[in-house]
Amino acid sequence: MIAERLQELYAELPQGVRLVAVSKFHTVSEILEAYSMGQKVFGENRPQEFAAKAVQLPQDIEWHFIGHLQTNKLKLVLPYAYIVESVDSIHLLDAIEAWAERNDRRVRVLLEVHIGAEETKQGFSEEEVPSLLSDAAAYPHVDFCGLMGMASHTDDEEAVAADFARIKALLDRCRTDFPDLVHFRELSIGMSDDWRIAVEHGSTEVRIGTAIFGPRKY
Ligand SMILES: *Cc1c(COP(=O)(O)O)cnc(C)c1O
Repeated sequence: MIAERLQELYAELPQGVRLVAVSKFHTVSEILEAYSMGQKVFGENRPQEFAAKAVQLPQDIEWHFIGHLQTNKLKLVLPYAYIVESVDSIHLLDAIEAWAERNDRRVRVLLEVHIGAEETKQGFSEEEVPSLLSDAAAYPHVDFCGLMGMASHTDDEEAVAADFARIKALLDRCRTDFPDLVHFRELSIGMSDDWRIAVEHGSTEVRIGTAIFGPRKY
């Protein structure tokens, strides 16, 4: 099943759109099944689960951390993460910079932007992002690689498209205004139910769980 679902996604995803297979709540053997199909990029959202899987699974997996990250959990995540997609506060960014300096590492990040209608969603407002990036020099151990967002949770495709259009416009504006941030180009938008709409709006990376692994088991 996993293999067939992956094949279908590979066939349909345009060149240049990376597939992050979101494996949260799924087992190591399910991840290995996807890995055996050539899938090397996986996403996890809970620090403990992420660290446990990362140490068991092949070293060449590119792990994307996509969940809310508390600063006391950095040491579970940063040693293994290729990128942290869910940087949602200055407090977290400060802690990442401090960890990276202490450990003589660089850390790739995406800034999570609150684009959906839900009030509880994490993330920076669209206004906060440019002012943060204008202060990028304060984070010499952080590579700002782009933006991540989640559209409103709704069947209204136009509302979803409008959310994605806004974050795409924000990415483009930041790239124009901050040309020195040479890595700032990724747009991580699109999940199982809305990735086709995201791709139409410039997604460079889709994060897909259910449509690969099936419903999550708790
Ligand atoms: C779980 C999760 C996904 C994947 O969601 P699906 O609907 O299962 O594809 C994508 N992004 C984030 C941040 C997630 O937490």
